[in-house]
Amino acid sequence: MNRAYNFNPGPAALPLEVLEQARDTFVEYGEQGMSLMEMSHRSKPVERMVEETEKLLLELIGIPSGYRVLFMGGGASAQFALLPLNYLTEGKVGRYVLSGNFSEKAYQEAQTIGAAEIVASGKADRWGRLPDLSKLAFGDDTAYVHLTTNNTIEGSQWQEFPDTGAIPLIGDMTSDILSRSIDWTRFAMFYAGAQKNLGPAGVTAVVIRDDLLERGNGKIPTIFQYAAFAKNNSLYNTPPVHSIYMMKLMLEWAVSQGGVAELEKRNRQKAGILYEAIDASGGFYQGIVEKPYRSIMNATWRMKDEALEKQFAKEADEAGLVGLAGHRSVGGLRASIYNAVPTEACEALAGFMGDFARRHG
Ligand SMILES: *Cc1c(COP(=O)(O)O)cnc(C)c1O
Repeated sequence: MNRAYNFNPGPAALPLEVLEQARDTFVEYGEQGMSLMEMSHRSKPVERMVEETEKLLLELIGIPSGYRVLFMGGGASAQFALLPLNYLTEGKVGRYVLSGNFSEKAYQEAQTIGAAEIVASGKADRWGRLPDLSKLAFGDDTAYVHLTTNNTIEGSQWQEFPDTGAIPLIGDMTSDILSRSIDWTRFAMFYAGAQKNLGPAGVTAVVIRDDLLERGNGKIPTIFQYAAFAKNNSLYNTPPVHSIYMMKLMLEWAVSQGGVAELEKRNRQKAGILYEAIDASGGFYQGIVEKPYRSIMNATWRMKDEALEKQFAKEADEAGLVGLAGHRSVGGLRASIYNAVPTEACEALAGFMGDFARRHG
């Protein structure tokens, strides 16, 4: 197979080693006479696999105790609703920082459930910069503060996080979990749909602090309660076993690469290669996000007009560089360079960008 340089935004590239390992264990798992997908989710091998996946994720982020990992369905989007369902009780307000399309969706979902408020927004700047959070204060009625750590569609990323004191800070880390070292304990809960940095679609990892777990609303349906998932080690009902297994392989791969510190080093280098290609083009490529806010996971840029952007995406695709069209809400081009995207892919893209600029500039 001639593997493409895959810049898809999600589902996204997986390491070839992970795919090969999954293939090798696909038909029979652990000499059980069947595949993992055919086993009861109450069987020992599945229980152990789920347990190990939780442990691995906590080890990789470096918070081995005080938090649980829940494996849930419905994608990151389900969390937009589950978070307020669990914590937006009578008299409480969910406070939202808007920094892009997905954060706005999280806010809109909360509004269907309870009182939700925008505390800062970058919308007036067309998401080209992140709003200033330095002067924010949160009232006692605040149930939580929600923030999207990396804005997948627009290509911006928070470098610092607000200090919310005793108020739970919640992070949607779908597109940058495990991509850089941060103080994860700033967050009372963070979640990530798997299909960007953690594996294939089908499962969402929810990392949640013990005290927050205990405070969840017990009057909502059990299947929506974080506490029920924790109590049953994510086996309250049948979980997406295969997706969790793929996440486990992905996490083992991350460990084998040197962990988050090494992945961050690569990601900064990869992003640096692309932003250099943009900035050195003399305006032929224009970054969509202002420099201090640029993401190391999703690089976005525009060109002179839409026709040229279409031409770029088409020629890139023909050259084996796929998934570069920008999101329909933003336009332009976007290269998603999650953990599994190798440096070599970014070098190939930068080379193509230079070549395209010479031919069309
Ligand atoms: C992709 C993405 C989502 C949506 O994920 P689904 O699993 O499709 O629901 C939400 N938030 C962020 C930051 C994302 O990148």
